[in-house]
Amino acid sequence: MTPDSIKKLVALLSQLPSLGPRQATRVAFHIAGMPTSEVTELARVINETARLKRCTQCFRIDELTTGRCTICANPRRDQASIIIVEKETDVLTLEKTKAIKGRYLVLGDLPKDGVLTTQQRTRLAALKKSIADLPGGIASEIIIGFSPTTYGDLNAEIVAGQIKGITQKISRLGRGIPTGGEIEFADEQTLDAAIKNRN
Ligand SMILES: [Zn+2]
Repeated sequence: MTPDSIKKLVALLSQLPSLGPRQATRVAFHIAGMPTSEVTELARVINETARLKRCTQCFRIDELTTGRCTICANPRRDQASIIIVEKETDVLTLEKTKAIKGRYLVLGDLPKDGVLTTQQRTRLAALKKSIADLPGGIASEIIIGFSPTTYGDLNAEIVAGQIKGITQKISRLGRGIPTGGEIEFADEQTLDAAIKNRN
């Protein structure tokens, strides 16, 4: 009864974050009901994102220049100061404050059981290497920029253990953000205060 093309679209959409099978089905039928020109435009824009790549240094997705993103490749950014965040969207939120003078490391969705994934260990290893390559071979500060949730706190301790010895200072962002709150949903003023009051 359901056309094959809808079934295929639902299967693909169901893999997206926060889209369950029912929502995916609704979206699929919505797309199928859109004017052809809009469907074509949607497909074209999605296709365009395929040329974006993951930065080899901070692992966020961006238009890359020589393997690095626009933030990492910016000579005005302090390469010795790093803020470790969970998600790409956290970078966007923090960038709005203009208070981050250094660079980022995007770790990816934090594990709930406190065991870092292989991908996360690889990213932390890349961070260590990039710090070892700095003049002096040590970071001035690494800020752990996880949301102050239960698993954010748990993972902050684990990550702090991993980065000991590669930085002069480890600090934690989040004072000021309500406990249990997510960076993504904090307003700019709160975040700005959380960055300035890090400890
Ligand atoms: Zn980057």
